[in-house]
Amino acid sequence: MRHRIAVVGSGPAGLTFARVLHRHDHPVTVLERDPAPDARPPGGTLDLHEGMGQLALDKAGLLAEFQALSRPEGQAMRILDADGTVLRDWRPRPDDRANPEIDRGQLRDLLLGPLDVQWGRGVTQVVPGTRDGVLVHFTDGRQETFDLVVGADGAWSRIRPAVSSVTPHYTGVTLIETSLDDVDTRHPDLARLIGEGSVAVYGVNRALVAQRNSGGHVRVYAQFRAPLDWHTNLDLADVEAVRSSLLALFDGWAAPVLDLLRHGTAFVHRPLYVLPVSHTWTHVSGVTLLGDAAHLMPPLGAGANLAMLEGAELAESIAAGPGDLDEAVRAFEEQMWARAGRWAKITTAGLERLVSPDPAEALALFDQVQPS
Ligand SMILES: Cc1cc2nc3c(=O)[nH]c(=O)nc-3n(C[C@H](O)[C@H](O)[C@H](O)COP(=O)(O)OP(=O)(O)OC[C@H]3O[C@@H](n4cnc5c(N)ncnc54)[C@H](O)[C@@H]3O)c2cc1C
Repeated sequence: MRHRIAVVGSGPAGLTFARVLHRHDHPVTVLERDPAPDARPPGGTLDLHEGMGQLALDKAGLLAEFQALSRPEGQAMRILDADGTVLRDWRPRPDDRANPEIDRGQLRDLLLGPLDVQWGRGVTQVVPGTRDGVLVHFTDGRQETFDLVVGADGAWSRIRPAVSSVTPHYTGVTLIETSLDDVDTRHPDLARLIGEGSVAVYGVNRALVAQRNSGGHVRVYAQFRAPLDWHTNLDLADVEAVRSSLLALFDGWAAPVLDLLRHGTAFVHRPLYVLPVSHTWTHVSGVTLLGDAAHLMPPLGAGANLAMLEGAELAESIAAGPGDLDEAVRAFEEQMWARAGRWAKITTAGLERLVSPDPAEALALFDQVQPS
C-alpha cells in the first residue's frame, strides 16, 4: 500500500518535493493556504546553484526547461561604495551556468506543472501519533489524517511546533523591498547602473541592492541595522513617509544610488528573522520539516536552493521504498541538518559582514566568494 503523504506549503521546498514524488508516480497531497497561485506577488529573482537548486530540478526532470527560462547574464554583479564609485564590476562568461537567475513566478509555474495543489487549505496544527496517523487541522475546522506530514510552510511554520519548540528571532537587520517597472524605458540611467544582473552598494551598517528580474522589472532591497521597533513613529502603509524615512537613513549617499529609492513604488517591510544555527529536533514519527520551516537563515542566496534540494532528496528516498518510511525520513533529517547547519553558519557570518560598521568587510566577502 502507498503511504498517505501530505506536504504543507507550495513554496520551492513543497513544490519540488511534490514534483519529484509525482515523477516517481507516488501520490502526494499539496496543501497551500493561499487561495490561488497568483494570490500574492511571487517575489524577486532567485539564483539557483548548480549543485543545489539546479540539481533538484534535474531530479524533477525540469533542468532543460529551467535552462531555457533562466538568465545566466543575471549573475553579473557590480559593487559601489556609498559615493557611487564602482569598486567591482564582475560579469559571467557567456557559458557560465553556475548560478543563473530565474523569477520566482517562473520557477513556481515550472514546478507546478501537472501538480494538483489544494489551494485555500491553511493548516493550523498537526497532531502526530493518533490511531490513524498524523492528524491535520485546517483553518476551516476540517481534519484529515496522513502517514507523513511534511512541513514546508516557511518561516512561521504551523507544523514546526509538532517537532520543536524553537521560534525565529530577529537578526538586528531590517530589509525594505521596493521595485521599479520598465526600467530600460522609464529609468535608463538606473538600467545602466544595474546592468544585466545586480548592483550592491555598501555603507556603514547599511546596504542597498538592486536586482534585475525579467521584463525590465527591478527589485530593490534596502537593508540596515535597527531595533525591531525602529518604525514606531512611521506609518508603514504610507509610501511617501517610508520613502522619506529611507532617504534620511541613506542620507549622503550618491544621488544615482538614492534614485533607486526615489523611484521605487510600494515598500514592503521585512525584518530579517532566523532560526538558531544548527536547529535540530528529536525525530517525531510521521512529521518532518523542509526549507525555511526547518532552518530559516539570512537571505544570502542559499534558502531556496536548500529548500529545493531537500524536497528532491526526501522525495527520492521515499520513492525508493518499499523500506520503512520512518527510517527514510530519519536518514534524510540527519543529512539535511548537517548541510543546513553549514549554510546557516556561512549566511549568518555573511550578513554580519554585508551590513557591517565597516563596509570594507562586504567587499572582502565578495572577493572571497567571487574571485575575478
Ligand atoms: C528578500 C529575499 C531574497 C531572497 N533571495 C534568495 C536567493 O536569491 N536565493 C535563495 O536560494 N534564497 C533566497 N531567499 C530565501 C528564500 O526565499 C527562502 O529560503 C525560500 O523561499 C524557502 O522556501 P520554502 O518553500 O521553505 O518556504 P516559502 O517560500 O516561505 O513557502 C512556504 C509556503 O507555505 C505556505 N504556507 C505557510 N503557512 C501555511 C499554512 N499554515 N498552511 C498552508 N500553507 C502555508 C505559504 O503560503 C508558502 O506558499 C530570499 C529571501 C528573501 C526574504
